[in-house]
Amino acid sequence: MYPFTYHRAESATDAVRALNAPSAAALGGGTDLLVAMKEEIARPDVLVDLRRLPGARDIALHNDGSARIGCAVRLSELAAHAGIADRFAALAQAAAAVGTPQLRTMGTIGGNLAQRPRCWYFRSGLPCFKNGGTDCLAERGENHYHALFTDGTCHAVHPSDPLVALTVLEATVEITGLAGARILSLDALFSRAAHDARSELTLAPGDYISAVLLPASAGGGEQFYEKLMQRGAWDFATVSLAAHRRTDGAVRIALGGVSLGPCRVNSSVEEDVATGGLDDDSIDALAERVMYDARPLDHNGYKVWQAQALLRRAMRRLDPR
Ligand SMILES: Cc1cc2nc3c(=O)[nH]c(=O)nc-3n(C[C@H](O)[C@H](O)[C@H](O)COP(=O)(O)OP(=O)(O)OC[C@H]3O[C@@H](n4cnc5c(N)ncnc54)[C@H](O)[C@@H]3O)c2cc1C
Repeated sequence: MYPFTYHRAESATDAVRALNAPSAAALGGGTDLLVAMKEEIARPDVLVDLRRLPGARDIALHNDGSARIGCAVRLSELAAHAGIADRFAALAQAAAAVGTPQLRTMGTIGGNLAQRPRCWYFRSGLPCFKNGGTDCLAERGENHYHALFTDGTCHAVHPSDPLVALTVLEATVEITGLAGARILSLDALFSRAAHDARSELTLAPGDYISAVLLPASAGGGEQFYEKLMQRGAWDFATVSLAAHRRTDGAVRIALGGVSLGPCRVNSSVEEDVATGGLDDDSIDALAERVMYDARPLDHNGYKVWQAQALLRRAMRRLDPR
């Protein structure tokens, strides 16, 4: 591993200043970053530890039903928090679905969103697009776990379980940087994911995710997260799904394991599910409609069937009848 220095940020100003240095990296639990450094796909000179920042470990549930989750809240804390489980069950379930108890105890929500893809070409340091090459080696190679939907060069998927739940809950992120704090949608945060070699996140030097924000509309209703894996535990999703029937009747559905950023299904499908009264043929047709634009590679066509199976199950569960 390359030599590096460690800086514990004591304030937002201190964190931004330290992260604005060339080759600085934010540090959460280190469960991905330190592995990436050992794999030599990340070579930061300084690690800026965000875990002691004021508010970074706080989960605040507001009276209006919204919530603020500090960037360094651990996944195990999210999974076990009674208020989160009660109001935002899909997020609690997704946090509980991450890896192992050890990973959940160390890993933070900020680090989970900012973790790098697990593509084996990228992780092996081969000259793929994300490692500074001009091509995606998975596109014509070993692509069993790769994306069905991509709008750029990279065919990796985002490995986060919580991202899928946060997508249906229409969460936003608070970014702190040189100009202060600003709010970004998840789509905006990941808008350059498949195009940008350096990162999946649209962050400028000095920026870090300071919090995840849940709107009041994300609370309650019927919500859940389901994850399919190659083995029963300690694995990333091949395909996952989060769904929410809100208290106002609106439906939100998102898929995981199929793209390098958030993947909400077509809003016309969500509207049909919200209307309800769907028979088996309609559910089959809607599941096919969601996957109409999927572009499977040579070895990941099974993900289309997995996604459709999860979609059919979710639509039955969400039907208001
Ligand atoms: C064996 C294994 C299995 C796993 N299984 C799963 C799984 O099933 N589901 C899943 O979702 N994840 C899984 N993971 C990934 C794991 O959840 C992540 O490693 C962890 O959540 C990352 O959190 P962290 O705080 O340790 O991040 P770190 O390792 O500290 O950081 C990860 C990346 O995020 C950046 N970063 C950290 N905090 C911030 C911030 N606040 N703002 C901006 N950038 C930041 C870092 O610079 C780094 O690039 C697995 C990992 C391993 C090693």
